[in-house]
Amino acid sequence: MKKVVVIGAGLGGLSAAIRLAKKGFSVTIVEQNNKTGGKANEINEEGFRFDTGPSLLTMPFVIEELFTEAGFEIGEYLDFVQPEVLCRYFYPSGKEVDAWSDLDKFVNELSLKFDEPRGVIQSYFDYSKKIYDLTAELFLFKSFREYSTFLNKKALKTLLNLPKIDSFRTMHQANASFFKHPELIQLFDRYATYNGSDPYKAPATLNIIQHVEYGIGGFTLKGGIYSLSRAMTDVALKLGVEILANHPVDEIVLACNKVHGVCCRGKVIDDPNKVIGVRCGEKLIDADIVVSNSDVTNTYRKLLNDSQVTPARKYYKTEPSSSALVFYWGVQGEYPQLKMHNVIFSEDYKKEFTEIFDDGKVPNDPTIYIYISSKYNPTDAVECGENWFVMINMPPGKEKTELDIESVKQKIIEKVKKTLNIDLNKKIIFEKILTPQMIEEKTSSVFGSLYGISSNNRFAAFLRQDNRSKEYNGLYFCGGSAHPGGGIPLVILSGKIASDLISKYGV
Ligand SMILES: Cc1cc2nc3c(=O)[nH]c(=O)nc-3n(C[C@H](O)[C@H](O)[C@H](O)COP(=O)(O)OP(=O)(O)OC[C@H]3O[C@@H](n4cnc5c(N)ncnc54)[C@H](O)[C@@H]3O)c2cc1C
Repeated sequence: MKKVVVIGAGLGGLSAAIRLAKKGFSVTIVEQNNKTGGKANEINEEGFRFDTGPSLLTMPFVIEELFTEAGFEIGEYLDFVQPEVLCRYFYPSGKEVDAWSDLDKFVNELSLKFDEPRGVIQSYFDYSKKIYDLTAELFLFKSFREYSTFLNKKALKTLLNLPKIDSFRTMHQANASFFKHPELIQLFDRYATYNGSDPYKAPATLNIIQHVEYGIGGFTLKGGIYSLSRAMTDVALKLGVEILANHPVDEIVLACNKVHGVCCRGKVIDDPNKVIGVRCGEKLIDADIVVSNSDVTNTYRKLLNDSQVTPARKYYKTEPSSSALVFYWGVQGEYPQLKMHNVIFSEDYKKEFTEIFDDGKVPNDPTIYIYISSKYNPTDAVECGENWFVMINMPPGKEKTELDIESVKQKIIEKVKKTLNIDLNKKIIFEKILTPQMIEEKTSSVFGSLYGISSNNRFAAFLRQDNRSKEYNGLYFCGGSAHPGGGIPLVILSGKIASDLISKYGV
């Protein structure tokens, strides 16, 4: 039986491990933290439970497919919940807008609040769906480096319709061509942040996300998003996957290891660049195949000690996606003016993104995202309390020393007071913080980026690391920094693509 080691138990790593175990490989996941889930983790302290990272999930069929392929009944593990209102938006002008899950209702709301004809808004969603129909198969579901991906009718249709995928305008330019009202344009520009990008730079192809959220649907899970990490871990264990927690991998060991001079431990070496296992401290774990769920740059630079091969150099130079500063606040009181997902917009969106991506600084007037899972799961907070996950977008790689957390906190508290008339000053009874630097320390995501590389140029999809290494035989990649990118459904798909390539090529 061929042995696979997966480095990292993020959702991408778990997806690959489950599929490979089902295919009959002997699979070991080696995880540096004491828990699985990576960014999709939880804090459970002093009567408050928080999802640490993702708070909304899309494309649930990707998760359903994983469970079905693995031979498990998803309903026994996960309960998908589609909130009536996906997000409540608050504007500096005092306007409040509800993004209803029901597309018809949402179109009505937008038409009413922004005085835009219903037909124009509907045609915008049709445009978004068109991009999805043309691109999803090619850009999301298959390896980007296999000829077979391009040699079929659907791919041909996409290639013949390239102008329709709108890659030559930015998201903002496209949105501004549909709508007059700046606040409505801002609402749709926000979708660039779903993969950590800047709407004033990212290609309009990313307007696909609006269809993903409203055409297919946005969901949360009963028990919180962390229940997905828990369920996938459960399934992996049931399929016989071995999970070694508290095992940081220091090195991917090659047949002829240049760093430590281990020459395949007595075996004849055909291919010096073939992976033969991983090393955690003094411990060597043998493998025929290694799947890295660790960040691609980290894998090349740290685990392979290689900054020379083309992808290692190329990848390091690409622009990382945005990072985040998150406050996990246990708050006294209940606030009906807020929904489960809420956004308080900044006054000047363009300036906010310029500060994040061009100036590399904490935005002066950040857009604030507030996720309160206790609105749906009351046990996530103490009685008469709520669990506020409060996040702002941050430049990747910001050093902790340069980040004045207290002043950002006060800014957020002031803005919440001004917009919602809620004085948080004496209401916060529990607090934990996540900074970009901590994201890097906890998950090895270089510069604390949330979604691998940003999509701030139209070639990003082609720059992402392929799921199979060309340079190192037997090395595969999954997770947000590899194809097809970051976010829950995409990293789960990356695990699928990696496992399909392993079935095809093996070592
Ligand atoms: C604050 C925040 C909010 C987000 N919001 C959303 C959202 O609403 N919706 C959405 O879809 N996505 C969201 N995301 C993104 C989403 O969480 C990620 O895209 C996804 O969870 C990443 O999964 P992954 O498999 O790439 O790896 P990760 O979650 O990064 O996991 C990688 C794992 O590998 C381990 N590892 C790395 N290096 C080593 C090593 N050398 N040895 C051993 N183990 C190692 C790490 O410890 C980690 O457990 C958010 C992320 C954050 C941080």
